[in-house]
Amino acid sequence: MSLPATERTNLLGLPRPALETFVAQLGSRPFRARQLLNWIYKRGTGEFAAMTDLARDFRARLAAQAEVRPPEIVRVQHSADGTLKWLLRADAAQAFEMVFIPEPDRGTLCISSQVGCALDCSFCSTAQQGFNRNLTTAEIVGQVWLAMRELERGSQPAGRGAPAGDAAMPAERRVTNVVLMGMGEPLANFRNVVPALDILLDDYGCDLSRRRVTLSTSGLVPQIYKLAEVSNVALAVSLHAPDDALRNELVPINRKHPIAELLPACWHYLDEQNGRSVTFEYVMLDAVNDSPAQARALARLLKGHPAKVNLIPFNPFPGTRYTRSPAPVIQRFRDELLQRGVLATVRRTRGEDIDAACGQLAGRVIDRTTVRLGNKVIGVTVQP
Ligand code: SAH
Repeated sequence: MSLPATERTNLLGLPRPALETFVAQLGSRPFRARQLLNWIYKRGTGEFAAMTDLARDFRARLAAQAEVRPPEIVRVQHSADGTLKWLLRADAAQAFEMVFIPEPDRGTLCISSQVGCALDCSFCSTAQQGFNRNLTTAEIVGQVWLAMRELERGSQPAGRGAPAGDAAMPAERRVTNVVLMGMGEPLANFRNVVPALDILLDDYGCDLSRRRVTLSTSGLVPQIYKLAEVSNVALAVSLHAPDDALRNELVPINRKHPIAELLPACWHYLDEQNGRSVTFEYVMLDAVNDSPAQARALARLLKGHPAKVNLIPFNPFPGTRYTRSPAPVIQRFRDELLQRGVLATVRRTRGEDIDAACGQLAGRVIDRTTVRLGNKVIGVTVQP
């Protein structure tokens, strides 16, 4: 019997063990799951009819009860620097964004984990949209699947074969790296994000190495400890300030989980997962957090630990009260860190002309929360 489209199981949401169970329920042998995964992720097809090494009646049962359905594309935007941004449908009214950033040696896909965000960071445009809902595992994996397929099909950065911007720069046009740095706080959607990470890393799935998948968090300390038990992807933490007084203002979740709790959670994650280092993101806000004294305070926090600092020039958006630190100030800040033995790099801003840079992803969100995490943290339970 054929199920209506809305009731079919979206296979993009099933990690291998769950897919094996599903396949067994359809009366086939569990190892068929691997063949199925091979078609979906290695060959990039979601058409069961095309999966010719699967028995005909199994294919028919799959077609009746399952589907491979990525999020629907609402709009694609091309930046002059080759960056691509997709607006993806969450439902009739809501949408979220993903961004592909081609570089000479890698292609980074920045994906979303939620429609909007409840964390209320004062310098982030997504925060202004409010929070609507968590993305499902299928919607998270579906972004990667979709981007891989779209890039393959020639939805090329900067208009096929004629890269604007760095014309001489050969750009990687495949997804080699995935960062959970789009809309949302991934650790506030732990239940759906962790199975998605499993699929991204599975040899039979997207087959990405653990060092090429990065989860970025604003610092949900209990969830960092939980993540250490179940995943080993690279960890990035949005620090943005060297002391609690300032961090409380910029990243309000700090009032609940201050720096002295956050950093030990990061070191624990590395110990448990045998990781190399944690990347600390630090947005450069003019005359707010960018003084040499603040750089020295940051160096004192991180010195001697396996940490890297990634300085992100602030990306403005309508209505913000912040401005970007001047380039020489950012260089000076970096040098203060380097002189004290703390590794630091400055993130190159990409996709600014299409609002695809860090903190500019706004999607289309209708806020339906009454309580936000962060500023109004009282009594909020983060989904386990
Ligand atoms: N919620 C997660 C994932 C988002 S990652 C987190 O906070 O880590 C996006 C990164 O861009 C974070 O480090 C975020 O703090 C930073 N960011 C947000 N708004 C920004 C802006 N306007 N300019 C530059 N970076 C910004």
